[in-house]
Amino acid sequence: MIYSFEQKIDDLRFQYESGVTETITKSLEKKNTEYSATSNSYKFNTQNMLNKIENLQQLELFLKNYEGLEIKNTCRNTVFSDGSCDSKIMLIGEAPGNQEDIEGKPFVGKSGKLLDKILKIINLDRNNCYITNLIPWKPPGNRNPTNDEIELCLPIIKKHIQLINPEILMLIGSISTRAILGKDQGITKLRGQWHIYKDLKIDIPALPIFHPAYLLRRPANKSLVMKDMLSFYQKIRDNKII
Ligand code: URA
Repeated sequence: MIYSFEQKIDDLRFQYESGVTETITKSLEKKNTEYSATSNSYKFNTQNMLNKIENLQQLELFLKNYEGLEIKNTCRNTVFSDGSCDSKIMLIGEAPGNQEDIEGKPFVGKSGKLLDKILKIINLDRNNCYITNLIPWKPPGNRNPTNDEIELCLPIIKKHIQLINPEILMLIGSISTRAILGKDQGITKLRGQWHIYKDLKIDIPALPIFHPAYLLRRPANKSLVMKDMLSFYQKIRDNKII
C-alpha cells in the first residue's frame, strides 16, 4: 500500500494519540513475555484500540505494531491484504504460509496459485476483489492456528470487514469459516451453502468453500468448488455487485 504524505501524518497522529511510543523495528525486536495470547488485559487493549481505528491504513499500522500474539515474533512480515480495497467482494483465508510470510501478501504460494485459477473461472482476480486472512501472521511450521490465536484475531478481522464494508464474503477453508460464522460444523457441511455474516448493523451473504490447500491434496473435490464458484457468481449477478 502506498501512503500519501497526509496519510503518513494521519498515521503518526493516530500512533501518538493511541500511545505508541516505540518505532515499528524496536517493537518487533521486543519479545512479548508480559502477556499470553489470551491475556484479558491484551484482549481489552486490542478491542479498545480497534474501536479508535477509522481506516485501513490505521488498521495495517496497528497490526505492524501489535505485540499481542507470540507467533508474530517468528514472522518476517505482517500479511495484511492484497487486491482492491474498493471492491465489494471480500475473500478471507486462514493464515499465511511460508511464501506469504516472505512476500507479505496473502495467497501467493502454491495454494494461492490454485485460488487464482479457481477465481478466474468466474472472472475474479486481485483487481476486482479484496483478499485477506483471519490470522495476519504465519503460525510456526505451518501448523493450524490455536483457539487462543483465533480468539485474539477475531475482533481484528471483524474490524477489517467493517472497514472494507463488502457486499459479499467468500470464506476460504474450515478455520476461517467456523471462526467468522461462529459455527461448529465442519467445512464439508458448511461449504456451498449461503450463510449470513452478522455484525453491528451489517448482514452480509457469505459462502464457505474448500481451502485450495485441501484441494491440492484431494483434487477429486475440485468439482465441488466449481459448483460453489457458480453459486458465488450467481449471487454477484443477482445482487448486481459487479
Ligand atoms: N493459506 C491461507 O489460508 N492464506 C494464505 O494467505 C495462504 C495460504
